[in-house]
Amino acid sequence: MQNNQIESYVILGGGTAGWISAAVLAQALKNSKVNITLIESPNVATVGVGEATIPSIVDLLEYLRIPQKDFILKTNATFKLGIKFVDWLEKGQHYWHQFGYIGNNIDGLPFYQHWARHISQGGQFGLTDFSPAVALAKQNKFFIPDPKRPNNLSGSTYALHFDAGLVAEYLKEYCLKKHNLEVVYDHLVDTELDIQGQIKTLHLQSGKHISADFFIDCSGQRALLINKALRVGYQNWQHYLPANKAIAVQTDISNPLPPYTEATAHEHGWRWRIPLQNRTGNGYVYCDDFCSDNHAEALLIDHATKHNCVINQSKLISFTTGKRDKMWFKNCLAVGLSSGFLEPLESTSIYLIMRAMLNFVQSLPDKMPHPATIKEFNRRMDIEYQCIRDFIVLHYCRTQRTDSAFWRMWQTLAIPDSLQQKLALFEAQGRLMHNPQDLFAQDSWYAVLEGMGVRAKSLDPRVYQSNFTMVEKAFADSANALVQVASKTLDHAEYIQRLKL
Ligand SMILES: Cc1cc2nc3c(=O)[nH]c(=O)nc-3n(C[C@H](O)[C@H](O)[C@H](O)COP(=O)(O)OP(=O)(O)OC[C@H]3O[C@@H](n4cnc5c(N)ncnc54)[C@H](O)[C@@H]3O)c2cc1C
Repeated sequence: MQNNQIESYVILGGGTAGWISAAVLAQALKNSKVNITLIESPNVATVGVGEATIPSIVDLLEYLRIPQKDFILKTNATFKLGIKFVDWLEKGQHYWHQFGYIGNNIDGLPFYQHWARHISQGGQFGLTDFSPAVALAKQNKFFIPDPKRPNNLSGSTYALHFDAGLVAEYLKEYCLKKHNLEVVYDHLVDTELDIQGQIKTLHLQSGKHISADFFIDCSGQRALLINKALRVGYQNWQHYLPANKAIAVQTDISNPLPPYTEATAHEHGWRWRIPLQNRTGNGYVYCDDFCSDNHAEALLIDHATKHNCVINQSKLISFTTGKRDKMWFKNCLAVGLSSGFLEPLESTSIYLIMRAMLNFVQSLPDKMPHPATIKEFNRRMDIEYQCIRDFIVLHYCRTQRTDSAFWRMWQTLAIPDSLQQKLALFEAQGRLMHNPQDLFAQDSWYAVLEGMGVRAKSLDPRVYQSNFTMVEKAFADSANALVQVASKTLDHAEYIQRLKL
């Protein structure tokens, strides 16, 4: 058999996508002699605002064999138990999207079915009153469940908020220590293709030329390889998610330190608040059809400085929601912003970077990638993107806000057919489509559906076979126990302080 194995990879870009790609590749190929080169431009800054994650970040650290405590301390990270959504359904209302589960199945039926019966018969408990993560988050507490000593909080999972710049530095050091990886500080000026239309050589500003067998495009929104060189198009999803700008600013530390991200709906979009150990990240995502950049900045600063002081210059970022037609084309894989972007409402971009790279190392090609391998990779990533898009649209499409043109727009905006079908099934009898490739588990969908006022018109008939009195008693015991047990855990800030000892 002919040895056609890849001998060299080039990663273009040293942002979060570039360094996660390098780390995953270096780990997967740690026992090989494959050359990995990462090029980052001294002239182009990284986007640098991706600071909130979802629980899969913990899996990534485990995959890379990175000690979590070391990572947390060196990236100024805090813990995240979920997202608090404020004013989305209507002003004055809020709801939680928790990490981890809500309640346990009862008599073989999803907890949601029993809870919906509880509510329909005048019950008072909210759905997320049965979430361990929410019980902790509401009290600014944090706790990592010990599998050997289970208690009521055992179902809580967590993610991290971190400083994106420090993460890139951390992963750079990791790659340089772990693997014979070369970093080139230079600016790409031209790309040369071979006669089959594959990428052959990158020409850099210094006059240097770098050739490789395979290229990973982490050049951000510029998409210099996948789009500029290979002309792979972009599916624009702005008709589903019209926000196209964000303005970000940092303020000083929050006190108390919340173990969650806050996403507050505003007149023309929404505002995020992400607490780190040493500062708070704030941003306003909006649609510039309805709001000027100056107005957005004034609104953001006004809110961000209610309790904190601004510590840096604000940064304006434009984006087009959508995804690359093909993330993998010929000998080039697009990862990060070059592959697509969905607004950061559920902190999914870093997850998509990690997912793309973990899928890629399961599909490592030869020098001439096989079309079937590429097709399967792209199929899987398309499903990931579509499921996340639908979940994000759900946060908007049933709003009852009518206080501005931005919110009124949602009454007429078409939603994806796939989401329409999910809503129809759910509204019939409270059932959710089973899709093992959906990043968001059923309890995530239940939480946001309930938060956005979407309820089932009828329930699974089997729920009425359960003993309602016993179920109600179990509800009261469980919700009260969660609050009690959570109150005895450490404050989030104190938990982090103890890591430093
Ligand atoms: C407003 C906003 C908020 C976000 N919030 C979150 C969040 O909370 N959670 C989350 O998961 N994600 C979030 N994201 C997404 C996240 O920031 C990105 O997915 C992540 O930072 C990856 O970016 P990147 O590395 O692809 O691109 P970039 O950070 O833009 O990096 C591009 C790299 O390419 C290099 N480059 C560019 N041109 C050249 C050239 N000619 N030659 C050589 N090198 C070049 C640059 O120097 C840089 O190193 C957010 C994004 C935005 C816009």
